[in-house]
Amino acid sequence: MARRSKAVFSIGMDLGGTKIAAGLCRGGEILKKVVVPTHAAKGFDAVIEAMAGAARAAMGDTDPAQVAGVGIGAAGQIDPRTGAVLYAPNLRWTNAPLGGSLSAALGLPVRVTNDVRAATIAEWKFGAGKGLDNFVNIFLGTGIGSGIVLNGQLCQGATNSAGEIGHICLDPEGPVCGCGHKGCFEAFSSGRGIENEVKRRLQKGAKSLIRDEVGDDLDKVTGHLVGKAAREGDEVALAALAKAGRYLGLALANVHTLLNPDRILLGGGVMALKKFFLPDARAALHRHILPVADRGDDLLGEARFETEAVFLGGAALFA
Ligand SMILES: [Zn+2]
Repeated sequence: MARRSKAVFSIGMDLGGTKIAAGLCRGGEILKKVVVPTHAAKGFDAVIEAMAGAARAAMGDTDPAQVAGVGIGAAGQIDPRTGAVLYAPNLRWTNAPLGGSLSAALGLPVRVTNDVRAATIAEWKFGAGKGLDNFVNIFLGTGIGSGIVLNGQLCQGATNSAGEIGHICLDPEGPVCGCGHKGCFEAFSSGRGIENEVKRRLQKGAKSLIRDEVGDDLDKVTGHLVGKAAREGDEVALAALAKAGRYLGLALANVHTLLNPDRILLGGGVMALKKFFLPDARAALHRHILPVADRGDDLLGEARFETEAVFLGGAALFA
């Protein structure tokens, strides 16, 4: 579909496994935001219907001719040329024609990218990466992902998988990762990695406030409980977070050594506990980085956007 000449707005969408967020945007400004459940278990058509409904609700009375298009950030492997979701485990989708189906439902052009790349675009255009030609945006959530901007361009990679930083190996004998390999960065420093470290310590019989909450049912260990225990000075929680920080610092040093970015931005839900792991991460970063690349505290920054990042970046695909 051709670009619309009168268009001043665009719609950004964040397609997650449990929630869909849609925002009517103008540049970096969010004019209206709508959040609806994904209901992924109902299947592809139901999700498209929910997305179309959310986009229409975000659009409200806006003349569709003034909307340039809909930009989606979705978790999983995306083909940005076709808008297809090649593989999204959280939605149980394989080769799902997301872009084409939503475009047909709404009568608007649709572009799709990976959610972490969308968030990176939001930081680049409107947030903590504004004005930078070389930066890496690392998202520390249940898993770990990143978006890489080099020489003023977003890196895609030969087969579109650039930035899968969660699966760089930091210890070939380390804990098993969701991808099946051992010792991935994500197995140490993601929300799930931290929970698993706490579980291993509890299994070995360590005393902890978390044990008082969950008893012997280690499946009940959550990031929320780990955070609560850390704030109360619990040694198991603090040790698990410090370890996550040391491996985070190692990964940051490797990224800096390889790419020499202006800055690495950190974001995602795990950052709510940053005071318990960032000091260890900084120490490890400076210990492992090449001295010539070490520019002190300027190396690290924090992402500006939290929940809005993905749909703001999606909307910016049409800005
Ligand atoms: Zn992995």
